[in-house]
Parts: sequence; C-alpha cells; structure tokens
Amino acid sequence: MRRFFYPFFLLILFTAASLSLAERQEKTLAPPGAPVIVLVDPGHGGYDPGVLSGGLREADITLAVGQHLQAALEKRGISVAMTRESDVDYAPSGSRGLDSKRADLRRRLEIADELQAQMFISLHANVSTLATRGGAEVFYSDETPGAKELAESVQTALHKLPGMSKRDAKAAKYYLLRSQPIPALIIECGYLNIADDRHRLTSGDSQRALAEAIADGVSSHLQKQ
Ligand SMILES: [Zn+2]
Repeated sequence: MRRFFYPFFLLILFTAASLSLAERQEKTLAPPGAPVIVLVDPGHGGYDPGVLSGGLREADITLAVGQHLQAALEKRGISVAMTRESDVDYAPSGSRGLDSKRADLRRRLEIADELQAQMFISLHANVSTLATRGGAEVFYSDETPGAKELAESVQTALHKLPGMSKRDAKAAKYYLLRSQPIPALIIECGYLNIADDRHRLTSGDSQRALAEAIADGVSSHLQKQ
C-alpha cells in the first residue's frame, strides 16, 4: 500500500507548494454553487495601500466596506464573490510601479471573467485638498450596455444616506471600467480628508449603512431587468 501512497503524497506536496499567495486566496473566493452575480473588488491592498490620510489607508477602508457589501448583497439573495478578503495584491512578486499596478488590475478583471460574474463593483476612497464638499461618487463606462443604469441606481440609493452630499454618477474611461463587457462601477465612497465622509468611512455602523445603500441600488437595478 505504501508504494501507492508515496507518489500521491508527493503530488499533494508539490501542488500546495506551487500555488502562489494569490492563487491560494482565490480558491476560497468563489461561493459554492450559485453563479456569481456581483464581484466586489475592494480596491488596492498588499503592497499598494491606496491613498493615505491622517493614519487611514484606503486599502483597509475598501476591504471593510467590501465585506459589509458582501453581507448586504447576500442578505438580498444576490450571490457575491470578492477579489480579495485580506490585505493582498495580485502584482507579480517583487514588481513595483505602473507594471505591477496594471498586472494587479488585469488579474481582478480575469477573476470576473473566470467566475462569469454579471457585474463588477470596485470600491475606493478619495483624498483631495481641492474638494470643497464630500460625497460618494459612482463612475461607469458609457460604452458598456447597462452600466449607466446600474450606476444611476446605486448613486440614487447613496443620496438617501443621512448627510450624504449629492453627487452625480459620471461616465469615465478608467481601465477597470472599459476593459470588460459586464457593467462595472468604480465607487469612490467618500473623501478621507473631509470630516463627514471620514466618519462615514471609519465607523462600523456607517460603513454598514453605506454598503446597504449600494446593495439597495444593485437590487433595485436587478429588479428592473
Ligand atoms: Zn483607489
């Protein structure tokens, strides 16, 4: 018997050792069974903290809001997968700069493709010394059918949050938005350097309310289809 087990054991060892961190994480991301409706992408992570403001890292905030959004969507019966569930990136190890950023974003798009997700929602936060008011802002590509309607539905739901500055959904040419056939959104959840938004993005209850609003927007868009 031992002679049969030995090669099998070696194969398991080899397989485990050959998986990169990203691959290992990804294996846990797809929900069992149901097709993925929404792929939630907490922006940045790993080597890339995103914008920094007063001790806050964008990557931590997008992950926290992303986890609330996953729960809020699942509560509404919408199946969800995440591009990341911890502080990781998808850049080739050791690479830095624009090439690593592009590779990281490309991998997130590939995950959407592999899971055959129907929508892609990438979460971000802003810092701007020029902004005179805060507010969450939804971006979409006007070249993708259905993206504008989804964006407007989410933006309208965000307007209902108490104290939310009412910004409009906007067409944009970001790589993440125009490089895939499914409706994709970049949601800039608020400005980390503006007090109201900073509070909304750092308190657990407010993060949850923000996620619930985004989920409401997705849900009412799906109901219209
Ligand atoms: Zn960002």
